[in-house]
Amino acid sequence: MEESKNETMIEYKKFREILKKYSIKISIRPRMKKSLGNVSFSNLIITFKLNKNIEDYKDIYTYVRYMTKYCINTKLNLVYKVKLKKLYQEIIKLNIEYNDSDYFILQNRILKLYEEKEKKEYKNNINLLEEYIKINNQFELKLDLPNEIYFRKFNGRVFGKFYTKDNKIVIDKRLEEFPRALNFVLYHEMLHKKYHSNIKRRMKFHTKSFKELEKIHPDYQYSKDIMRNLI
Ligand SMILES: [Zn+2]
Repeated sequence: MEESKNETMIEYKKFREILKKYSIKISIRPRMKKSLGNVSFSNLIITFKLNKNIEDYKDIYTYVRYMTKYCINTKLNLVYKVKLKKLYQEIIKLNIEYNDSDYFILQNRILKLYEEKEKKEYKNNINLLEEYIKINNQFELKLDLPNEIYFRKFNGRVFGKFYTKDNKIVIDKRLEEFPRALNFVLYHEMLHKKYHSNIKRRMKFHTKSFKELEKIHPDYQYSKDIMRNLI
């Protein structure tokens, strides 16, 4: 293991030396999304800007090698072309195991990484107030805004609550992973907000007419199933 790590280090050093010889710069771009990198040409310097997620030696090598070959075959200023051709030949001499499909494997890996990141961000970034406004418009509820709206952990069969006195809506954290069911529960709580004042004290909240209104929501059945599974 140790030996192969050293070998990799030597290869990496050689590789960097070659890059230096041809006024090639490599810079890491932290904000690059979904793309592995790009190549730019200016003042006779060729710059590879790389996605920060390809910091690994093998990854850098794969990208630079593939892009060098690719750039030679595109319309380029002759000076750059000559430089890239020489660079390509030197890289080949390094004799590092490589085939073109490595490039696409790397591309897929980066893409997956960003997809997962986006999913995670979406999950944690559900803006309840935004959802509230969307539902309000979609179902023409004509409600004013609540004083507060936020997530909290509930248990059992409770997935949301509307507090009349505080004019506040709280939604169960369990629904963060199920945006459609969350939308339905929020709609349900908003119906409470809308019709609560019309219901006499101690009367059942979930009346027959209330349930009819609930069923208007396109994800009514789906959400009921999700909640049943979460209990
Ligand atoms: Zn209810």
